[in-house]
Amino acid sequence: MIIDVVTIFPKMFDAVLNESIIKRAQAKGKVKFHIHDLRDYTSDKHRKVDDRPFGGGAGMVMRPEPIFNCVEKIKSKLKGRESKTILLCPQGRKLTQAIAKGLSKLNNIILICGHYEGVDERVRKNLADAEVSIGDYVLTGGELPAMVLIDAITRLIPGVLGDKNSLNFESFEGNLLEHPHYTRPSNFRKIEVPKVLLSGDHSRIEAWRIKEAESRTRERRPDLLLPKLRRKNGQD
Ligand code: SAM
Repeated sequence: MIIDVVTIFPKMFDAVLNESIIKRAQAKGKVKFHIHDLRDYTSDKHRKVDDRPFGGGAGMVMRPEPIFNCVEKIKSKLKGRESKTILLCPQGRKLTQAIAKGLSKLNNIILICGHYEGVDERVRKNLADAEVSIGDYVLTGGELPAMVLIDAITRLIPGVLGDKNSLNFESFEGNLLEHPHYTRPSNFRKIEVPKVLLSGDHSRIEAWRIKEAESRTRERRPDLLLPKLRRKNGQD
């Protein structure tokens, strides 16, 4: 997969892309990142990426020209290969594991990071294929949301995580949160690990994990169980 990022703060990506799983995914050849400085796509000597909003009001708006120029240049290098252009936007579809999974199957993704009051509406309407929000709060810019999206997608690309099971049993797979984890020592400050985990009986351990996953999902995120219940009751 190739992920192109359009940003006015390219250096923000250095740390995140060069550590941990994302770094290893690149080393394994599973993903490549191209970070584009939006100011390189301006044509004035001040490299201006924003301007005042038509109709007045507070704040600045990101100009359409540099963003269109940058995305069109990226697409021209793809030579007709399919790509999805995603605008990071608090008004977009809220990111879920299912969305990340869908995106992890693509070959080319272009991420546009907004700033100020956001981007000129024509970017949303005429350039972006989708808008993704990372939650109901407003951040200063699209860089952190883009990094969240990159992380969520990259770890789902086949072959990126060493142990396939670590993906199968993760939260949000099959409408459940993951079961609790314990490690050594079995007795820490007199707090003991559940006995079943020390039993060596794999089917009992498996049954305990499923039960725990179900009860913590009911307790913390009953909304995740709703679609399953609806299916069971023939409501879908
Ligand atoms: N004025 C906009 C509004 O009220 O909807 C918010 C603009 S925000 C300060 C600037 C940029 O940060 C946005 O264009 C977007 O790229 C990014 N951003 C902020 N919060 C975000 C979120 N929750 N999810 C995705 N992107 C976000």
